[in-house]
Amino acid sequence: MLNIVMVGPPGAGKGTQAKMLADRHGYLHLSPGDLLRQAVKDGTALGLEAKDYMDSGRLVPDDLIIELISDRMRKAGAVPGMILDGFPRTLRQAEALDEMLRELGQRLDVVVEVDLPEEEAVLRLTGRRVCRQCGANYHLLFKPPQRPDVCDACGGPLYQRSDDSEETARARLQVYGKETEPLISYYSAKGLTRDLDGRGSVQEVAERLERLLGLR
Ligand code: ADP
Ligand code: ADP
Ligand code: ZN
Repeated sequence: MLNIVMVGPPGAGKGTQAKMLADRHGYLHLSPGDLLRQAVKDGTALGLEAKDYMDSGRLVPDDLIIELISDRMRKAGAVPGMILDGFPRTLRQAEALDEMLRELGQRLDVVVEVDLPEEEAVLRLTGRRVCRQCGANYHLLFKPPQRPDVCDACGGPLYQRSDDSEETARARLQVYGKETEPLISYYSAKGLTRDLDGRGSVQEVAERLERLLGLR
């Protein structure tokens, strides 16, 4: 069992890399952002509570996120590993994760810290497009779909997330620096962090990540 946490600023490429790694190795990919957007789309109680926080780029309250993730984790069947993408984002969430894994008789193996200069993160966020149907990620310049606004994978329509405007993207980067970056010292004190340079093409970063994890 390989349990991986990915931390890094919004736009660093966490989701893109986490999905590729999960597909290649059969890992469970857990992303609170994806789960929350699904809840908003479905109009569930969680979605209604989370929406305003997400639209303004603030973090959704810890209790909601912790319940969401612990529920998914308990329901996970036998998998060779788990990639947590965008969780934890606060110290409280990190402590809750330790507890969840302890209950499951597991532990965290590695925390991958994805680095990307702020201006590149803004470019990636403002050009991001997402499939409304299957959640696949695209980028207007860096990973364009074959047909404009149509998902290569499922033919669904692409849209721009409301929090990917330049203004909200910058607000989220601030929130990252203030609330999430402190986690890195929590994990480096435990000797768990590994740096991943997020620059370069999707393929280059994917190879770098597999080498860092000892998977190639
Ligand atoms: P995060 O989950 O960290 O917010 P994403 O994986 O969603 O980041 O990537 C943000 C945007 O940047 C997406 O539009 C994605 O297609 C694009 N992207 C991801 N990795 C790269 C890369 N290595 N080079 C260029 N664009 C990338
Ligand atoms: P990105 O990687 O581009 O920042 P995500 O999809 O991970 O985007 O997150 C989108 C939004 O969902 C966040 O801005 C926040 O409102 C909420 N969210 C996601 N993960 C968490 C978390 N661990 N704790 C609190 N809020 C979260
Ligand atoms: Zn799609």
